[in-house]
Amino acid sequence: MDNRRKKLIKTSVRDSIKKLVDHARDAYKKKQPARSKRYVKMAFDLLKKHKIKLPKELKNSFCRKCFLIWIPNKTIKVTYDKRNHYLRINCECGYSKRI
Ligand SMILES: [Zn+2]
Repeated sequence: MDNRRKKLIKTSVRDSIKKLVDHARDAYKKKQPARSKRYVKMAFDLLKKHKIKLPKELKNSFCRKCFLIWIPNKTIKVTYDKRNHYLRINCECGYSKRI
């Protein structure tokens, strides 16, 4: 497979991931958390399979431990570490990530 083709596939996979994350967010808003997680998991599987690097806003949009969609002040708490000057995401499952 040549490079251009590879790039094309990655671009379309990235698009699918973005859509899945959007679906997951919608499902969560419609109070369908199980469905939402399923979408996130699908997105994450694609991500792993194609070894795709995500833009920051997508990378910080779901939990890779419990597949929860991250919605600030809803599913996650974002705290600011004053001493070290960074933001930290705290997921429901206990996973936390520095952003
Ligand atoms: Zn989590």
